[in-house]
Amino acid sequence: MSNENPASPTTARAAGPLDVERLIQELTLEEKASLTSGLDFWHTQPVDRAGAEVPAVMVTDGPHGLRKQSGSADHLGLANSVPATCFPTAAALGSTWNVELLERVGRALGRETRANDVAVLLGPGINIKRSPLCGRNFEYFSEDPVVSGDLGAALINGVQSQGVGTSLKHFAANNQETDRMRVSADVDERTLREIYLTGFERAVTKASPWTVMCSYNKINGTYASEDHWLLTEVLRDEWGYDGVVVSDWGAVSNRVPALAAGLDLEMPATGGRTDAEVVAAVRAGELDEAILDQAVRRHLTLLNRALPALAEPGTYDVAEHHALAREAAAEGAVLLRNEPVDGAPVLPLDPAAASSIAVIGEFARTPRYQGAGSSQVQPTRLDDALTQINAITGSEVSFAAGFGITAEVSDADDAALREEAVALARDAGTVVLFLGLPASHESEGFDRDDMDLPANQIALLEAVSAVCARVVVVLANGSAVAIAPWQDRAAAILEGWLGGQAGGGAIADLLFGVRNPSGKLTETVPVRLEDNASYGNFPGELGHVRYGEGVLVGYRYYDAKRMDVAFPFGHGLSYTTFAYDDLSVAVSGEGTTASLTVDVTVTNTGDVAGAEVVQVYVGDPQSAVERPERELKAFGKVSLAPGGTRTLTFELDARDLSYWHPVLRRWVVEGGEFVVSVGASSRDLRGSATVTVVGEDVTLPLTPSSTLSEALAHPVAGAILRDAMAAGDDGSSAMAIDESMLAMAGDMPLRVIAAFDGMMFDQSQLEQLLAAADAG
Ligand code: BGC
Repeated sequence: MSNENPASPTTARAAGPLDVERLIQELTLEEKASLTSGLDFWHTQPVDRAGAEVPAVMVTDGPHGLRKQSGSADHLGLANSVPATCFPTAAALGSTWNVELLERVGRALGRETRANDVAVLLGPGINIKRSPLCGRNFEYFSEDPVVSGDLGAALINGVQSQGVGTSLKHFAANNQETDRMRVSADVDERTLREIYLTGFERAVTKASPWTVMCSYNKINGTYASEDHWLLTEVLRDEWGYDGVVVSDWGAVSNRVPALAAGLDLEMPATGGRTDAEVVAAVRAGELDEAILDQAVRRHLTLLNRALPALAEPGTYDVAEHHALAREAAAEGAVLLRNEPVDGAPVLPLDPAAASSIAVIGEFARTPRYQGAGSSQVQPTRLDDALTQINAITGSEVSFAAGFGITAEVSDADDAALREEAVALARDAGTVVLFLGLPASHESEGFDRDDMDLPANQIALLEAVSAVCARVVVVLANGSAVAIAPWQDRAAAILEGWLGGQAGGGAIADLLFGVRNPSGKLTETVPVRLEDNASYGNFPGELGHVRYGEGVLVGYRYYDAKRMDVAFPFGHGLSYTTFAYDDLSVAVSGEGTTASLTVDVTVTNTGDVAGAEVVQVYVGDPQSAVERPERELKAFGKVSLAPGGTRTLTFELDARDLSYWHPVLRRWVVEGGEFVVSVGASSRDLRGSATVTVVGEDVTLPLTPSSTLSEALAHPVAGAILRDAMAAGDDGSSAMAIDESMLAMAGDMPLRVIAAFDGMMFDQSQLEQLLAAADAG
């Protein structure tokens, strides 16, 4: 899809804020309809009529840099865009677990957006990484909704502090690229609520994004763009969202029902075709004009938010933003492994020993630093790791490419490159080996088929590790790759993700200890792809993908199955060590007002300064529904000097203890014991406490289809039944029923019991029982 942007769309600027209610009165039906769709690929429509001027504004991608196209336009990152800082992708930003840093990156993104006359940056994307194969995982933060939502909120707050908007995307259940424009994500409501919507809810309620972008896919058969439940009942009525809902580019299949469902702005332009459908529907009485007015009201309110910054665009400091990109990339890299060789961990390297270091791997000089598709930005600068390593060591380390990363490289070429690299490795004290996924392996628009690194890279690793014991692997990839098959060949593994334009410098900083690694995984690295919960249900077929694993996504599944993983969710090493002490958990309130205060003291017990990501997990071992063994509910990052110590306090509320009740269709805090654990990863728990929380009343309504056990558990009906059973204990009544009979009859629906002649109660007694239960 590609079309030309008009050289300068009409952006008549009103002197002051638009008078929203007056405009809604004065605009014609056609004008109002036009305001709810795009002018072209990136602009909203203006109204140029004297006395009713409405400016057009530009919206553009996102999420980790500005992709402002001034010539031809597309949503696939094909045509050029203006230079902008390419910050680390969300995969790397997510691994920082640093809310304050994300807000700073957001502020920088906001400054660049503003400086380029753009009103809304199309991001962040916070979809859940359901499968490691999703081609767009690099644009998302995590397999967990709490990290996704909180980091998304921080980025939004940062961007919007600069007077420009964001677009929280892709709402919702857009967890794959295969068939993304049509597939139906078939997922039960509890799973949707607990896993796929929670992050959006957190981001919406904590940061009020100016726009929310609905996704392409269907959810349980309904296009997200036409889903009234999603866009209006959940997003607005429950979460209180008051901004604009914009379609993903081309996500509207039927404009009038979409508008009625709560979609305010269709993007990109349809050349007036769907505006005419809106006008006709209003004229025919099929669409209430008040719905159109409401969408226009939201759009004009968005313009009022955007106009002050557009009037004063400002500038930004390219070097400063590059430095911030380097800091963020370093914080997002995850030290997965750092084994001792000759008695000491292989990392950090000594810059003075540069002459014994060989750098191998094409990615060291040709960085893979961002993903392909609509998020692809044209960086202001680009650092490669090799140059940055040389800058830190003050020398020229030896280098061999080792493998090719383009389709043109033949097996023979690879063999020659490998031979050259092995020769270098043989004489080296340490090999730093840059491996990763070539750009053609992962992108918006398609999913991967496997998690493997290319065969030429594995062959190189095998050959190099056969001649050198100190191999440090540095990875560049946007989503988890299979590491277990080869991890023992590497003394150290540093996961650099797609680290943005300054990622090369960040890697150099970490390798030589200029910075101490503090990133942690926000996605599990499984031993095998087949271990992943979505395996067998990804990416679906014939237009449907079944979320059969339910709430057991990511670590929730590996934990439930007691499965070994290569590297667990939350894992990441440091050049120092941390001790966790004095965990205490205090309960206050009960039911919907229950809350927990969690205190834990963290101490840096090593010799260098470092930062630790402290993770708080909650488990509810006994529950009416199957719950994950433990779920992340809070986290904090703390920087400590050697010997430094700090007590962190986390407040958990009732929602953090609750589950979505599939029958009552609301969040429920079930009373009983909860296990609160704090840890350095989901599998490295450093302390846990069991507390008892008084729950809320979760009485299910009794119906003829309720079972005998359910009736006995009901406070009113149960008491009536038990009294009658006690009275009939002598066998004088049909109510006589002993424990063993109860075990067999417990699952019988009440209506079946009533239908059996002479068993416990008849139809009219059942009706009386239900009436009594109803009356409470
Ligand atoms: C992507 C969105 C993007 C839009 C505009 C779509 O294909 O899914 O994330 O914002 O294009 O480029």
